[in-house]
Amino acid sequence: MKVTEHIAQSDGKTLFSFEILPPLKGQDIKSIFDNIDPLMEYKPPFIDVTYHREEYTFKELDNGLLKKQVVKKRPGTVGICAAIQNKYSVDAIPHILCGGFTKEDTENFLIDLDFLGIDNVVALRGDAVKSEIYFKAEKEGHRYASELVSQIQDLNNGKYLDEELQNSSATDFCIGVAGYPEKHMEAPSLDSDIHFLKKKIKAGAEYIVTQMFFDNQKYFDFVEKCRKEGITVPIIPGLKPIATRKQLNLIPHRFKVDLPDDLIMEVVRCKDNKEVRKVGIEWCIQQSKELVAAGVPILHYYSMGRSSNIEAIAKEIF
Ligand code: FAD
Repeated sequence: MKVTEHIAQSDGKTLFSFEILPPLKGQDIKSIFDNIDPLMEYKPPFIDVTYHREEYTFKELDNGLLKKQVVKKRPGTVGICAAIQNKYSVDAIPHILCGGFTKEDTENFLIDLDFLGIDNVVALRGDAVKSEIYFKAEKEGHRYASELVSQIQDLNNGKYLDEELQNSSATDFCIGVAGYPEKHMEAPSLDSDIHFLKKKIKAGAEYIVTQMFFDNQKYFDFVEKCRKEGITVPIIPGLKPIATRKQLNLIPHRFKVDLPDDLIMEVVRCKDNKEVRKVGIEWCIQQSKELVAAGVPILHYYSMGRSSNIEAIAKEIF
C-alpha cells in the first residue's frame, strides 16, 4: 500500500515509521531482523531502507603506488526490502539515488521493485562520493532528485527509455522526497531550497520526509513556508535521538543541522554515553509529543542501526 494511502486511512492518528540501514557487507540479515523485531509491536505501516552508493578507497601496492578500488560497503537495499515484506507483511520502502546510477540503471532498478510488489520509493540525489567535494552525476544519469522523480513518473505513465517498446506496462510508485527544515547544506538559502523542493513535487512526488531536526520550531516554520509556496503534500518529520557525546559534533558536521543549547548542555553534563542515551531519548520523546499534538501524519525515526532507543520512544508515544 502507498504511503499516501496509509495516511488517508489513519483517521488523523499519527503513525509510526522508521528507517534502517542495510548491514555492512559480510554481515547477515539477522542483525536487521533483530533491530526490526522489537519495533513491530508499534505497528509501522512501512519501513524505509536506505541506499548506499559506492565509495573509493586507495590500497598501497608493494611498489608504493596507490591503487584505486571501488567498494560498496552496504549493498542489499532491494533484497532487504523484499525480505522485510516477506517476513513482516509490511511495506518496505527502498531509497533510490541519482548518484552512481545511469538512467538505464534506474529503470532496471525500478522494474525489479515493481516485480517485487514494492510500490513506494524515496527519490534522492545522494551525496558526493567521500573522496570528492561536489556531487557528480553519471554521464547518463540525473543531476538532481527532481529529474529522478520525473523518470519514475514517466514509468508510472508507461513511458520507458526505449520509446519503441510495445504494450509496455505502467508502474504505480508513490514517490517520496527529502526536505530540509534547516536548508540543504549546498543551498544558498532556505527559500531557494524550497523552490527546488516544489520542483520535485511538481514532477510527481507525493510526500516529503524531512532531515532530522532537534528544535520543533524549525519544522513548524518550514511547513509554514512550504504551505505559503503552495506545497500541499504531507511533510513527515524525521527524528533522531542523540545517543553518544561524539554526536554533538558529528551531527552538525555531517548533516548541517543545529542542536539547541539546552540539549547540548544536558549532554555535556552527562558522565558517560549511558546517560547521554537517556537524555537523547527524553529529548526525542518531548519532540514527538509536541509533534503528535500538532497533528503530524507520521513520526519517522532514523534508527541508524540501533533500535533500542527508538523502542523506548515508541513505547511512550504509540
Ligand atoms: P536534491 O533535491 O537534488 O537537492 C540537492 C541540492 O541541489 C539542494 O541544495 C537543492 O536546493 C539544489 N537543487 C535542486 N534542484 C536544483 C536545480 N534544478 N538547480 C539548482 N539547484 C538545485 N543519502 C543516501 O546516500 N542514501 C539514502 O538512502 C538517503 N536517504 C535520505 C533520506 C532523507 C529523508 C533525507 C533528508 C536525506 C537522505 N539522504 C540519503 C541524503 C541525501 O541524498 C543528501 O542530502 C543529498 O545531498 C541531497 O539529496 P536530495 O534528494 O535532497 O537532492
